[in-house]
Amino acid sequence: MKIKNIIITGTSRGIGFELVHIFANQGHNVLALSRNAQPVNNLHFDNITSFSFDLGNAEDYKKVETFIDKLASFGHESPIEHVSYTFAVEGVSRVLTHQLVRHRIASYSQQSQRYVKLEQFEYIVPPMIKKNSEAYAIFEKAMLEDQMYYNQLVESLEKTYTQEYLSEGYSNKKSKQLAEKKAIEDARFVFPNACETKIIFTMNARTLMQFFKHRCCERAQWEIRELADTMLELVKVVSPNLFKYAGPSCVSGPCPEGFMTCGKASEKKAYYLKDD
Ligand SMILES: Cc1cc2nc3c(=O)[nH]c(=O)nc-3n(C[C@H](O)[C@H](O)[C@H](O)COP(=O)(O)OP(=O)(O)OC[C@H]3O[C@@H](n4cnc5c(N)ncnc54)[C@H](O)[C@@H]3O)c2cc1C
Repeated sequence: MKIKNIIITGTSRGIGFELVHIFANQGHNVLALSRNAQPVNNLHFDNITSFSFDLGNAEDYKKVETFIDKLASFGHESPIEHVSYTFAVEGVSRVLTHQLVRHRIASYSQQSQRYVKLEQFEYIVPPMIKKNSEAYAIFEKAMLEDQMYYNQLVESLEKTYTQEYLSEGYSNKKSKQLAEKKAIEDARFVFPNACETKIIFTMNARTLMQFFKHRCCERAQWEIRELADTMLELVKVVSPNLFKYAGPSCVSGPCPEGFMTCGKASEKKAYYLKDD
């Protein structure tokens, strides 16, 4: 059996107390938090750490902080899987979300292009393209053309599908409704990666640490790096202890990028650890 590190609050009585007993009996390490630590202390288990903790007392958080630091120094990362964060992100491209969802230990919900007809799709322009007037003009032209081809495809497919549905005996109104839905489904294939999208996702703290290692790295693509930096700033506000040493890999260890390294490890360390 894999031994787990388990944190339980409200452990002086009832279900909290019983859970401490059950998990400790199974050999797991339990951190039991309650205003009254005595009932759990009376159990006399070596694998239970228990101390008096009052959510309303700022001093008590120090005790938990020390415990978390101790776990971190042992390399025990599984306890932080119990802490999760939900982000709602908009105004980003599908280039970004395609990379984001490669982080598999997370939950995602993204705006659909399948059921929403885009009369004029929004898109993200890379800053380097925006700065270059010639490149910007080419980019804008491509976006306009994409929208034009999309509209033409929807119109053409709609005609074909409407005939099909009519021949199957559907009413005029129903045939048009069904045909539009089906047409959008295929026409969206011409939309570019630049298409703006919205996504909601939930990641636990362990996944986030890994995400920051990869995506705050100088080698990460600019848009996802900007997102990762913003996410890191946000989680540092709500969980400063947990993310004290978070950032690209080089902040807490050697750079894993080999000959592709940016060579700026000390600069990065200074930047990401500036608050400590
Ligand atoms: C600079 C950069 C360049 C990249 N270039 C490319 C590219 O060219 N092509 C490309 O395809 N991707 C590329 N990626 C994406 C990269 O390969 C990863 O898919 C992505 O960073 C997610 O990392 P992950 O798998 O560690 O994360 P997660 O999916 O969140 O997994 C977290 C950890 O869980 C464990 N894990 C998860 N699933 C499994 C499993 N099935 N088996 C065993 N262990 C598992 C691993 O330890 C893993 O590190 C790039 C990423 C970066 C940062």
